[in-house]
Amino acid sequence: MKEIIDRLIEKNRKWVKYGQVATYIPELSKQDPNLLGISICDIKGNKFNAGDWNATFTLQSIAKVPSFICALQDNTLEVLSGKISVAPTADGFNSIENLETKNEKKPLNPMINSGAIAAISMVRGKTLEEKFQRIFQMIKKMAGNENLKVNEAVYKSEKETGDRNRSLAYYMKSTGIIDINVEDLLDVYFRLCSIAVNCQDVAGVAGVLAGDGKSPLDGSVLFDAQTAKIAKAVMATCGMYDGSGEFAVEVGLPGKSGVGGGIMAAVPKRMGIGVLGPALDRKGNSLAGWKLLQELSEELNLSIF
Ligand code: GLU
Repeated sequence: MKEIIDRLIEKNRKWVKYGQVATYIPELSKQDPNLLGISICDIKGNKFNAGDWNATFTLQSIAKVPSFICALQDNTLEVLSGKISVAPTADGFNSIENLETKNEKKPLNPMINSGAIAAISMVRGKTLEEKFQRIFQMIKKMAGNENLKVNEAVYKSEKETGDRNRSLAYYMKSTGIIDINVEDLLDVYFRLCSIAVNCQDVAGVAGVLAGDGKSPLDGSVLFDAQTAKIAKAVMATCGMYDGSGEFAVEVGLPGKSGVGGGIMAAVPKRMGIGVLGPALDRKGNSLAGWKLLQELSEELNLSIF
């Protein structure tokens, strides 16, 4: 495995120059576009790392998966699906339009900003701080890393410039999807997006999904197999923004990307994968990270389809 990922990293480094780091969150524009790294955590807990796997980046939208998992644990599917659909979208991750024009005003799915903000509001916790801690603990346990921290500079940058997310959240408050304080809720969302990780942390998170809710690292059961099944189904259909269809064809795995350049992919019953490549394509997915995953999937025959 190590030989394969070392080779694929070197082969795919050429792609980093075709992407751009995200700039709409000013702090993210400081990222190094040349990074490319990968970590794998297999179902037995073996870890393999290559390239810039140890570089730190922020989870961004990858945090939407554990947020959705907590919302699934804390609500019946009936209650949850009354507020959030599971429909793929052809619009961008922060689109406002589809909130008004489609799906009875529900966010289209929990992997785009509106759906994730709604999902966080439904996570158990008397206060928003409790909701944050519940999701943060889940992320730490899945990653197998108790030392994860919020990157304060990215958090501050997101909070200062997050007016699109404010628009989405206030709109959802006006339609009754959200019934709590919008600014406090967004504070939780921004902090979750700003959690600093490396590829190995993300591979750990994905490894729990691959193991149907059981951590490959310490054997603990973090959620049930039904929750894992739903989360992976939504990742496979909606996890790569409006690139989800192409990702299904070219990589064939439940995946979730973030504008920090991370991609998380889960290979059911086999392994979790974390990739970093901050230079993004036009849809906000890591360009070189995608190519790397595509070749890995072909070489190891990983596609679930
Ligand atoms: N914090 C980012 C935002 O809300 C997350 C977007 C993403 O990674 O897709 O815009």
